Amino acid sequence: MRVGIGSDVHPIEPGRPCWMAGLLFPDADGCAGHSDGDVAVHALCDALLSAAGLGDVGAVFGVGRPEWAGVTGAAMLTEVRRLLTGDGYSVVNAAVQVIGNRPKIGPRRAEAQKVLGELLDAPVSVSGTTTDGLGLTGRGEGVAAIATCLLECSQP
Ligand code: MG
Repeated sequence: MRVGIGSDVHPIEPGRPCWMAGLLFPDADGCAGHSDGDVAVHALCDALLSAAGLGDVGAVFGVGRPEWAGVTGAAMLTEVRRLLTGDGYSVVNAAVQVIGNRPKIGPRRAEAQKVLGELLDAPVSVSGTTTDGLGLTGRGEGVAAIATCLLECSQP
């Protein structure tokens, strides 16, 4: 068994489609970024890669890898799962928390958990919180996410 941790922060870009935790939120502005700006997925990917000792999102999908520009969260999780599987790992479970004013996670929690859980073939818990108006997330300048996971390795 191996645990991992990941986090991410992106600035909000007014008018950009808001992808978060694998879902499109039409009533919120999305995050800027090299990809679709889904910080929840980025934090999850970092947690998974760290648990497997496979580096981080920047190394796998970063600006030095132009073939991944504009990549969707679903494609990122699919690629990370492929890398994990190749090294003999499977996901036991994962959890991600989105920190920001918008989008509101609660009303679509079950939907996000279903999408992410199917991509990883494991239970994924999704939660949301705010910083009560403090800091960059509280001022609505950006969205943050933090994630953790547990992997099982079938190889000795
Ligand atoms: Mg990111």
